[in-house]
Amino acid sequence: MAIPVGAKKPKAMTKKNLQYFEKRLLEERRRVQKELGHHDDLFGATPQSADGDLSSYSFHMADQGTDAMEREKAFLFASQEGRFLWHIDQALRRLYKSPETFGKCHSCGEEIAFERLDALPHARYCIKCKQKEEDAKK
Ligand SMILES: [Zn+2]
Repeated sequence: MAIPVGAKKPKAMTKKNLQYFEKRLLEERRRVQKELGHHDDLFGATPQSADGDLSSYSFHMADQGTDAMEREKAFLFASQEGRFLWHIDQALRRLYKSPETFGKCHSCGEEIAFERLDALPHARYCIKCKQKEEDAKK
């Protein structure tokens, strides 16, 4: 799939592209859920509260001893996957509820490059804003 070259910036993503990313997101979702060992009915229902629980748990664990670290390590892995799943759900929600905002950067409003979205369909920021965020962390 290619972006039409030389075309003016479209106001919203085409229906075809939205369908494509819906498929990509659902694929990613299935993959992550498989890794988590969860089925749709177990984890998909409340991704938001699950994510909240996971992060508060890992914060709580942060200052504990070394044997707790092994458990934390295992837990953080699960937490990352859980968070990833949450982001995918958020992206799907955006795609269904307000397709005109899907694929647009949450920070500057520019469209996120197709290649970036293809690799990371739940991306919320364009590569420039993401880079700025990464730099700020350093
Ligand atoms: Zn941006």
